[in-house]
Amino acid sequence: MAQEEGQPIFSEVTCQEIAQWASAYLDEHVEDERKRHIALHLAICAGCETYVKQIATVRDVVGILPKAIEQPSDSQRLRQAFVARARRLPASR
Ligand SMILES: [Zn+2]
Repeated sequence: MAQEEGQPIFSEVTCQEIAQWASAYLDEHVEDERKRHIALHLAICAGCETYVKQIATVRDVVGILPKAIEQPSDSQRLRQAFVARARRLPASR
C-alpha cells in the first residue's frame, strides 16, 4: 500500500474548498450533503480541522466581545489613568 501524499483520500472536497467554506460551514449555511463532505474532510485532514477550529474560536471571541474590539478607547483610558498615576508617584530611587 503506497502512500500518496497530498492526495485527497476519499473526500470529495479539497483543502482549498474547506478554506472557502469554513465560515459558511460554521454558520450552517451549507447544504447537508456539502456539510457531510466537509465533516468527512475534517475527520481525515488535521490541517483543515485545526483551521476550522481556529476560525470558530475567533468567531466566538468576536461574538462575545464585540464592544472590546469596536471601542479601543477603553484601553486608551486605562493607559491614561496608568500614566497619570505613575506621574503622581514619587520618583524615588
Ligand atoms: Zn484539508
